[in-house]
Amino acid sequence: MKKKLLYIIIPIVLIAVAVVLIILFSKKNRPIVEETKVVEEKIPELYGEPIEGWMLYTDTVRSGDFLGTIMGRYGISPQQVDKIAKMSCDTFNVTLINLGRPFTVFADTIIDSIPQAKIFVYENSAVKFTKYDFRTPDTIFIEKFEKPIDTVNLEAAGVIESSLWNAMINNGYSWELAIVMSQTFAWTVDFYALQPGDWFKVLYSELYVGDKRIGIGDVQAGVFYQGGKELWAIPFTQDSTECFFDSVGNSMRKTFLLAPLEYTHISSRYSNARMHPIFHKVTEHLAVDFSAPMGTPVYAASDGTIVTRTFGTGAGYYVAIRHNSVYSTVYMHFSRFGEYNVGDRVTQGDIIGYVGSTGWSTGPHLHYEVHENGRKIDPLKFEPPPAETVDSSNLERFNKEKRYWIDKVNSVKMK
Ligand SMILES: [Zn+2]
Repeated sequence: MKKKLLYIIIPIVLIAVAVVLIILFSKKNRPIVEETKVVEEKIPELYGEPIEGWMLYTDTVRSGDFLGTIMGRYGISPQQVDKIAKMSCDTFNVTLINLGRPFTVFADTIIDSIPQAKIFVYENSAVKFTKYDFRTPDTIFIEKFEKPIDTVNLEAAGVIESSLWNAMINNGYSWELAIVMSQTFAWTVDFYALQPGDWFKVLYSELYVGDKRIGIGDVQAGVFYQGGKELWAIPFTQDSTECFFDSVGNSMRKTFLLAPLEYTHISSRYSNARMHPIFHKVTEHLAVDFSAPMGTPVYAASDGTIVTRTFGTGAGYYVAIRHNSVYSTVYMHFSRFGEYNVGDRVTQGDIIGYVGSTGWSTGPHLHYEVHENGRKIDPLKFEPPPAETVDSSNLERFNKEKRYWIDKVNSVKMK
């Protein structure tokens, strides 16, 4: 009987000891857990100000609002608003508030049902905000801040059916990615000539402020398959600048010829106002005229696609080349064309025409235009981005990093 009791008691005691030990250990552990929690927990802040003790008011700029009228609603006197206007240089221009932008007021008291602002924060953008601090009597501190931006790395892949735009939308990517990609691949991919079946894989980033997505960051690396070729964008830093290179270490950018022909002199420069030689009126001349003997060959200033090859009343026989989504060049008054037709790819130095005097022209010359995003810029001041190659001393490092990026991009799954 005693023995039997022991059989029952011993396990019970053992279990009890175990339970006590577990409780003791968990009690012992608990404060440590709590301690780390306390460390992680931050005093709640808004725009860098601890919110404790404040009455907070948040609203957005409405139609007809000025900074002064908004601040007036929160107890800021016209004298103080005037002071802000006087101390505000361009960066703090008080008139630069936009409809719909949020603002927050930190008030400490309410007088005659008007909250008395001590701090006024205006959100200039999703990232930037301006803080007006009225806490010190007779002094207003104005400071601009930027919220910390978080970068999230993502990947995208798609097959072109009609356009890059549609490929983005159909695969659920943002349209902004199409824009960033067209910039990254501007010098190598002809986005106007994409064919069904062309494809891309890219690594890119999105930017966040807190939980709010504020847009696309950069393409980090990627490949575009067009015209039977893989066109790579591989990031590499040399001479402390990061550029994209192709898979053999050539810069993705192409140079432009300083002048697309051998000329004798410049007969007319880029100008917003010049006397037109034929019409004797002051007109703009958003081009350069290079005088040269009749028949002098004119070269493609850079690689591109012939998009125009025709006769114009003023331009005479002329050619336009689209180099990428940013740059085009136009060549006028040819006596005759070169061997390239509309749609043909040309490489820098290919002869596209010969100097003449067709159209509105007083003598043999080439009228040369450079278009940047559709705007005519001064061809003589045009400084296209440099087209450097990976330096031979950096090739070993480039090849290692290239392997890393190519493997990473290749591992992106096609949707
Ligand atoms: Zn001209």
